[in-house]
Amino acid sequence: MNPIECDVLASGGGMAGTVAAVAAARQGARTVLFERHGFLGGAATAGAVGQFVGWETRAGRRVIAGIGEEIVERLQKIGGSGGHGHFVMSTGHRMDRVEYDTEILKVVLDEIAHEAGVRVLLHSQLAQVSRHGRTLGSATLLTKGGLLDVRARVFIDTSGDLDLMARAGAPFLALEAGESLQPATMMFRLGPIDFAQFDGMSLETKAALSARGVAEKALPRAALHCSRVPGSDHGWFNVTRIAIDASDPFALSDGEREGRRQALAAARFIATNVPGCDRARLVAFAPQLGIRETRRIAGLATLTSDDLRNGAEFIDTMALGAYPIDVHHAGGAAITFEELGADHVYALPYRIAVPQGLDNALVAGRGLSATHEAHGAIRVMPTAMAVAHAIGTAAALTAGSNQPAAAIDPATLREKLRAGGAIL
Ligand SMILES: Cc1cc2nc3c(=O)[nH]c(=O)nc-3n(C[C@H](O)[C@H](O)[C@H](O)COP(=O)(O)OP(=O)(O)OC[C@H]3O[C@@H](n4cnc5c(N)ncnc54)[C@H](O)[C@@H]3O)c2cc1C
Repeated sequence: MNPIECDVLASGGGMAGTVAAVAAARQGARTVLFERHGFLGGAATAGAVGQFVGWETRAGRRVIAGIGEEIVERLQKIGGSGGHGHFVMSTGHRMDRVEYDTEILKVVLDEIAHEAGVRVLLHSQLAQVSRHGRTLGSATLLTKGGLLDVRARVFIDTSGDLDLMARAGAPFLALEAGESLQPATMMFRLGPIDFAQFDGMSLETKAALSARGVAEKALPRAALHCSRVPGSDHGWFNVTRIAIDASDPFALSDGEREGRRQALAAARFIATNVPGCDRARLVAFAPQLGIRETRRIAGLATLTSDDLRNGAEFIDTMALGAYPIDVHHAGGAAITFEELGADHVYALPYRIAVPQGLDNALVAGRGLSATHEAHGAIRVMPTAMAVAHAIGTAAALTAGSNQPAAAIDPATLREKLRAGGAIL
């Protein structure tokens, strides 16, 4: 196929990739977004997570808006979400959330990208990247029409697993002693559920039932976490747990098989034992495993859990977050869930998105330069969207400047983000 050219190439159309591409295109950059699936959304749709959490502090102060909020408004307009609400987690914590219909989200993302003028290439998988010293030249995609070279001035890796950075030979952060990658989860959809009964269960009843599920080896995790499909009597359950390195293709394939096995066993346990679920049957597995963690880039700065705890301030803050440190541990049922304070906000600096050794590349989404613990807080989708809004905007600024991505003026970036409705 004949090569194509653009200013900004976003690699992977999850929530981060879609928002970054929209942000870049709205700044006037000729933007291409490619995605291996036939729809956008990544973990939000293919992984069927079903809820965006972490928009506000415990005290109810909003810290995230911008394009992420626009997506919620668009979802509401076409019946894909009831908007912002709250729920009580299995840990007993009260958490804000937006539940959404995974199918309607696909349409919202199609529309927002199309309206912004993003050229979206679905069914396109990254094959190779060309690099000359500190500069990336083109990405070669395996498309339905064959191999396609896309030349770009700036590349944003939003593939979650940072496949583009890996093929470009960029450096990654290593796990520290005692740390392991967070496990993956195969979400599954059950219905019909009588939510009056299901939601009416006390935390104690839920805890006792889920502990029994673990004891009977039907539930890998002592939780009955469910996001309701808005306007329906179906819910997506987040209870399976698969400890793999999802950047290893063989482990990923085994993980999909193990995920479906666990999901079926869990669905049967829930339908037999959990109030409100006696008429429910397994309606669907998520189209693919939900991956919490794989590669993290080695950036010009690395965000630590102490930065989050201390509310560290940065000259180049590009987004705020408030979601607690939430690390699911591989090889067991445990979760670390560390609340950071009633009205606690933390900042994310632009430099955690700038890879070491490359001048025209950026990262957005769950591959930012953060320690394993800090990653556990900033991986949620509202934060991913706030960062992607910033990184798409920064990519457009870089493409128009003939300067390295590291050289953009943080004040100009922040001004543009505020003008686009972001909270800083
Ligand atoms: C089970 C689970 C539960 C979660 N629960 C919540 C929750 O309740 N609320 C919340 O806000 N967050 C939650 N999260 C976290 C959140 O969903 C993710 O961290 C976030 O969606 C990551 O977004 P992303 O765009 O960075 O990556 P992804 O969503 O992984 O998107 C990456 C995209 O790139 C594409 N891609 C990857 N490699 C290639 C390639 N080589 N070629 C072409 N395309 C490629 C993928 O298909 C995908 O569309 C959860 C995550 C998981 C896994």
